Amino acid sequence: MTPASELVAKTRDLVEQDFSNRLAALGQLVRIPGIAWDAFDPNELERSAEAVAKLFRDSGVFDEVEIKRASFEGVPGAPAVLASRKAKNGKPHVLLYAHHDVQPPGDPDLWETPAFEPTAKDGRIYGRGAADDKAGVIAHLSAIETLKSIAGGDFDLGISIFIEGEEEAGSRTFRQFLDENKEKLAADAIIVADSMNWSPEIPALTVSLRGVVALDFKIRTMEHAVHSGMFGGAIPDAMIPMIKVLASLHDEKGNVAISGLETYKFEDLPYTETNLRQDSSLLPEVSQIGDGGLMDRLWGKPSLTVIGMDVPSVATSSNTLQPSVSAALSLRIAPGQDPLRALEALKSHILAAVPFGAVVEFGNIETGKPFMADSSGWAAQMARNSLAAAFGNPPVDIGIGGSIPFIADLTEVFPDAQILVTGVEDSDSRAHSPNESINLLGLKNAMVAEALFLVGCNELKQD
Ligand SMILES: [Zn+2]
Repeated sequence: MTPASELVAKTRDLVEQDFSNRLAALGQLVRIPGIAWDAFDPNELERSAEAVAKLFRDSGVFDEVEIKRASFEGVPGAPAVLASRKAKNGKPHVLLYAHHDVQPPGDPDLWETPAFEPTAKDGRIYGRGAADDKAGVIAHLSAIETLKSIAGGDFDLGISIFIEGEEEAGSRTFRQFLDENKEKLAADAIIVADSMNWSPEIPALTVSLRGVVALDFKIRTMEHAVHSGMFGGAIPDAMIPMIKVLASLHDEKGNVAISGLETYKFEDLPYTETNLRQDSSLLPEVSQIGDGGLMDRLWGKPSLTVIGMDVPSVATSSNTLQPSVSAALSLRIAPGQDPLRALEALKSHILAAVPFGAVVEFGNIETGKPFMADSSGWAAQMARNSLAAAFGNPPVDIGIGGSIPFIADLTEVFPDAQILVTGVEDSDSRAHSPNESINLLGLKNAMVAEALFLVGCNELKQD
C-alpha cells in the first residue's frame, strides 16, 4: 500500500501548481473573524461558513454542499458546512473534518502583524486561524481537488466534508449535528485534521488523548466559625484536613499518588528538558516533576491539578477557625482509562486521606473519556504510508495531554469508523495565542499526504 514514487511525484507537482491559489483561499478565510462566542458578531460566522461552502462548491466534487446548524436545548449552534458525495463500486467512504471558527484574537498589542490580516513572513503565514484550523479546511480542499485531477471527476470514493463552526467554543451542538446528519456523515474512515505534525519534515499521527475527571469537594469540621485564640490547638479547622488531603495527592517526586490509575507508554521523541522549559515558562530554579519519559508524563500518565479553592482570601482573613473549605480538582487520565473508575479511585483516596473524622461532601463532577486510536485498521496503515511518502520521513505517534471532547462523540455515533487524528500545525504554530502561524512546507507536505491517502482509498480493492 506504499504509494508508488511516480504517484508521489505527480501528487506533489499538482499540490505545488495550485499552492498559491490555496494560500489565497486561506488568506481570504483568515480575513473573516468568525468567532463562536456570544461577545462576537455572529454574522462573521455566517460569512465564514459561506466562504468555506463556496470553496467546496467550486470544487465540483460534491452532490450537495449545505450550510447547516443543529440546536441544543433550543439554542441554535453556529453554521457548519456539510458536503457529501456518495461512494460507488464498493469503494469506501471518508469523512473529512476541520473547523472554520477561530479563537478570539486577544490583546492586539501582542500581535506583531494584524490578527485578521494574513501576512507572509519567513516561510510562514501569520494570522488568527492561519493554522487552527483554516489550514485544515484548505488541506482538505487541496486533497480532494488533487484526487479529482489524478482520478478524474467521476472517481468512486465517497467523501463527506464536515467543517464545524463552533469548535473553539466547546462544540455545543456537535452531538446533535452528528445525530441529525448521521446518514451523510457515516464513513469507514474519519480524518480529523485539527492536530499537528512533529515538525514540517516529520509527520505525526495523534494516537491518543488523555481524558479528564473534574471533581470538587468540601471539607467540614464545625457548624460555624470560632475564635482561633479560644479553640485553636484543641479542634481542627477545616483547612488542616484539606491541606493533608491535598498534600497526599502527589508523592515526593510529584507523581500522582492515587492507586488504581492506569498509564500508557509512549516512545521517546526529540523533546528535551530545554524545550519543556521554554514552552511552559518554567522558572530556571524549578525542577520538573514525575518519573518516566517526558512523553509518558505529558500524554500517557495521569496528572492532577488543584484548579480552585474556596477559602478566605488573604485580604479578608481574620483569626478564625474556618468551619468549611472547598477545593476543585482536575485529574487528566491516561488513554485507555475508564473515567468512572478513575473517579472512584480519586474519591476513595480523598476519603481515606482525610484525618480527624472531618466530613467530606462531594460536589460537581465532570468526566471526559480519553481516546486511543486503533492503529491496526487499513486506514491507519494507509495514513502512515501516505505521511511517510509525503514528508520523506515515517510518522511518529504523538498524544495530546488534553482532550478533544467531540472525538468521544464521533466514536459513539460511528463505532465502526476508523478515526485518524492528523493536522497541519507544527510546534511553532502558537494556536490560540498571539502571532499564530502555519509553516508553508509543513502545510504543503500535509496536503500531499492527504491527497495520497484519498487516492489510495479510491484505489482500494474491497473484498
Ligand atoms: Zn482547532
